[in-house]
Amino acid sequence: VAGRGEFELIARIRRWVEAEHARDARGSSAGVAAAGTASEIVAAIGDDAALLRPPRGWDLVLTCDAQVEGRHFRREWMTPRQMGARAAEVNLSDIAAMGGVPIAALVSLGVPRDLTLPALRGIYAGLRRALGAHGAQVIGGNVTCARQLFVDVTLVGRVESGRALLRAGARPGDVVFVTGAPGRAAAGLAALRAGSAKGCAALQRCHTAPRARVAVGRFLVENSIASAAIDVSDGVGGDLAHICEASGVAIVLDETALPVDRGLARLARACGCDPIDWVTGPSDDYELLFTTRRARVDLALAMGASLGLPVTPIGRVLEGKPEVRLRRRTGALEKVAGGWDHLRGGDRGRG
Ligand SMILES: [Mg+2]
Repeated sequence: VAGRGEFELIARIRRWVEAEHARDARGSSAGVAAAGTASEIVAAIGDDAALLRPPRGWDLVLTCDAQVEGRHFRREWMTPRQMGARAAEVNLSDIAAMGGVPIAALVSLGVPRDLTLPALRGIYAGLRRALGAHGAQVIGGNVTCARQLFVDVTLVGRVESGRALLRAGARPGDVVFVTGAPGRAAAGLAALRAGSAKGCAALQRCHTAPRARVAVGRFLVENSIASAAIDVSDGVGGDLAHICEASGVAIVLDETALPVDRGLARLARACGCDPIDWVTGPSDDYELLFTTRRARVDLALAMGASLGLPVTPIGRVLEGKPEVRLRRRTGALEKVAGGWDHLRGGDRGRG
């Protein structure tokens, strides 16, 4: 993009985004987008600001998260499309954790001079595809020059008033569930750092191409299943600690119940580490963690079958000091380590 002015870049981005929207409107995938958002986006790119008009009876859900080169991703590990998609998915995951329907995104982009126009276009294509899969679209943003590439997304969604999934709400006696098999992103990142792609492609994809659990969040809200929820952006232990603090409860995980991905277990054996450290430790898998009252456990299990993904009970909510512990196979109780601390150098992409 060297030598190109801000206005030229914005004009190009606008053309790409509008061309993609036009394609959506014609295409067969338009069903989702039209049903989700078309009526509530009053004005998108092209004015000083975008206008949204949420339907009556819904609360707006807002979140933002930046993906920064060297900190959250490396350009040599990902295609531009994957970078754009990742920036969308991490935000979609926060909307999912609240049980929301994604509507629209503002994208603030920092571009280094050596980024090519096709790469910039790829980033937008990735963003648009990831958002479009949930009926959301880019409605505005900003471009600036930067030393490192960053993609900063603000995502707006909506949820039925008073029905959002919160971190507070877990009570002693509740059961703790997780979707998918957490820890795979951490294992994939370890493989990327070690430069050992062999047999680890699926794990690496968990880092380079995560998928937010938007349908799970909606299912939890629509069927009143969860008493509390959070997405796994820091790690099972670290994120459950947030539920403990917000709800004023303790959580005990059961080692024998934790879902351990086969590829993860194989890689752990190969490098002589404990797979459980990946499963419970720092890892941004963008799975969902949630708690349910005992009477809703069957519904939570049925959700897995109806959405076609693993939904596993992994522990219990107890009275006590807000912390997360793990009951080992041997019966021993251990404190579970926290998640990423981004300001203390919880530095994922740099290696
Ligand atoms: Mg979150």
